[in-house]
Amino acid sequence: MSYDLIVIGSGPGGYVAAIRASQLGMKVAIVERSELGGICLNWGCIPTKALLKSAQVFEYLSHAADYGITVKGGEADFPAVIKRSRNVADGMSKGVQFLMKKNRIEVIKGSGKLKAGKKVEVTDGGKATDYEAKNIIVAVGARSRELPHLKIDGKKIIGYREALVLPQAPKTMVIIGSGAIGSEFAYFYATMGTKVTLVEMLPNIVPVEDEEVSKQLAKSFGKVGITVMTEASVESVDTKGANCKVTIKSKTGTATVECDVVLSAVGIAANLENVGLEDVGVITDKGKIKVNEYYQTNIPGIHAIGDCVGGQALAHVASAEGIICVEKMAGQNPEPLDYNNIPGCTYCQPEIASVGYTEKAAKEAGHELKIGKFPFTASGKASAAGAKDGFVKLIFDAKYGELLGAHMIGYNVTEMIAEIVVARKLETTGHELIKSVHPHPTMSEAIMEAAAAAYGEVIHL
Ligand SMILES: Cc1cc2nc3c(=O)[nH]c(=O)nc-3n(C[C@H](O)[C@H](O)[C@H](O)COP(=O)(O)OP(=O)(O)OC[C@H]3O[C@@H](n4cnc5c(N)ncnc54)[C@H](O)[C@@H]3O)c2cc1C
Repeated sequence: MSYDLIVIGSGPGGYVAAIRASQLGMKVAIVERSELGGICLNWGCIPTKALLKSAQVFEYLSHAADYGITVKGGEADFPAVIKRSRNVADGMSKGVQFLMKKNRIEVIKGSGKLKAGKKVEVTDGGKATDYEAKNIIVAVGARSRELPHLKIDGKKIIGYREALVLPQAPKTMVIIGSGAIGSEFAYFYATMGTKVTLVEMLPNIVPVEDEEVSKQLAKSFGKVGITVMTEASVESVDTKGANCKVTIKSKTGTATVECDVVLSAVGIAANLENVGLEDVGVITDKGKIKVNEYYQTNIPGIHAIGDCVGGQALAHVASAEGIICVEKMAGQNPEPLDYNNIPGCTYCQPEIASVGYTEKAAKEAGHELKIGKFPFTASGKASAAGAKDGFVKLIFDAKYGELLGAHMIGYNVTEMIAEIVVARKLETTGHELIKSVHPHPTMSEAIMEAAAAAYGEVIHL
């Protein structure tokens, strides 16, 4: 069978690329060895957000009295929380199945492997079939990275997959790594009643974020009982006994923390094995497939997108790359992706959302800065919502007024960051933000006020 395009992997990179290609008139097939929708829909973005919603509901119930509501005997039914998350993920995967059908994309079940002559060999149940295409996109994604001294055994030392389907909430858990995934699980399990210790090697948790955001999150995590250890590294985990003995080295010395489960959240490794990259001569670099700004590899007709190439490992990045890749393939002239204008979100409570330069990075890049910050303690909507933790911080270039970065922590901020992405795309200045009337009362007013604060015009502080 011959196609215009074969996509290997049906995550948010692969399935979105396939749909765009079909819209552009290509005959498309997508090869998937597991569930349609990839990690994002099945084991990443969506099921974690379903768990976090349950955590948020439970937290509301636990604090119902703050809102004048009496609730008697509310408790979390952990297996039911997990079941809801799995149902949400299954529903989303079925949605992709529908989209494939709607867009006349052939779904080929099995493991895809590149072969010379622009062929893909698909193996399913021991049977191999060859398919041919004018173009191929490799969108095979990634998995949990394992530290050499911390092998994931799936029981006592687990990765994100196991953390999404534990049969019961453990009494105690050590989480290694405080990026978005580690922090989201820390908040989820702490809310479910687990005593969580979050260990981070760098000086701040959520280390890619602006330092002030990291400090605020550490404070908020303290309030829900999470023990945060920074500049600390896990040296070893002894799993021989009934529980785990975790040896943690920090500035103050070496300590042993006992826990039921260790969650390793130290990043991801691209799925480059058994894809046939070496067989056809595709060049890789530092564990990722090397591509140009249109996601073309060194071999004509073979492309790669998503978590298996460089750039932020995020679903919306994978999808944007897929669209650019396919549009270029179809002879269009798409604008290359601006990796400095990609929003990043962490969905614990308080939520985090950011885009562009942190204060430190902007200074290092040689900018003179004008910074405006507006705390949610001064926001009417935040007060009404009972969510006064956090702030919006905007960073401008002092000379030209360019909006260099935005850093938000607080209730609902993940829904607010897109405004800044559009503003930066349109090269909006601080004064244009101040003069754009924001609805009252909303959390988003804090953006207008933060811009005003940068220019000495803030009203509510
Ligand atoms: C716990 C967790 C939470 C996350 N939360 C977020 C979030 O909130 N927001 C966000 O933007 N990102 C989030 N991410 C990251 C996001 O899931 C990834 O960036 C995204 O899924 C990458 O998309 P992709 O298409 O590159 O690959 P994937 O989604 O990994 O999909 C790759 C697909 O390829 C298939 N495959 C691999 N090899 C083969 C082969 N040889 N043949 C056939 N099929 C193959 C796999 O089975 C998989 O289905 C999260 C990740 C995790 C782990």
